[in-house]
Amino acid sequence: MERLVKGIEGFVSTVYESERALFLRLAADQQPDVLIVTCSDSRVDPNLVTQSKPGDLFVLRNAGNIVPPYGAGGDGEAATIEYALSVLGVRHIVVCGHTDCGAIKALLDPESVASLTEVKRWLGYAETTRRIVERIGETDTIKRMRTAIETHVLTQLDNLRTHPAVAAALAASELELHGWVYDIGRGHIDAWCMNQRQFIDVQEAESADSSSDDWRSTR
Ligand SMILES: [Zn+2]
Repeated sequence: MERLVKGIEGFVSTVYESERALFLRLAADQQPDVLIVTCSDSRVDPNLVTQSKPGDLFVLRNAGNIVPPYGAGGDGEAATIEYALSVLGVRHIVVCGHTDCGAIKALLDPESVASLTEVKRWLGYAETTRRIVERIGETDTIKRMRTAIETHVLTQLDNLRTHPAVAAALAASELELHGWVYDIGRGHIDAWCMNQRQFIDVQEAESADSSSDDWRSTR
């Protein structure tokens, strides 16, 4: 805790002072363009990896960057998504998974969390991911994990589309969905490329997909 309190001191004396105008402007309003759904993992820092400032990203975090389908539960997630679209009017939603994700490991090895009632229940929302990975049947452990992380990002994009606010914004061409995988060790982000139907470097994916916006037919 001591380190955090010292950090606050440093924030006030350096960061806040040098960005005072930004903080004063943000004090009464926020207009983020992007909702990012990512994992609670301590190694994942969406503002850091995108070099974003306060006010840029509306962030939804939970264990395993899970988006429960509409009406299935996950009220906090549903409310955050609805607010981001209907009040803030975000134009982009990013689902960002990451390497070495504990939730995905647990999903692939349910026995490891057999005694954790709440975790088990929460991972139930990711059952689609588990079933798809099982069906793919990759036996190499590292490849299986990578497949699961990527598949999971795509299944959460599917779940996002079940939310009325998302479906309505997509129908009006007012929203784009993006799927990312953050590689912690490499400091690298791959993104789902609709045209190539695979995860590739985020910059290449963005330029390859920039001419097309029909995210409803990406699977
Ligand atoms: Zn994670």
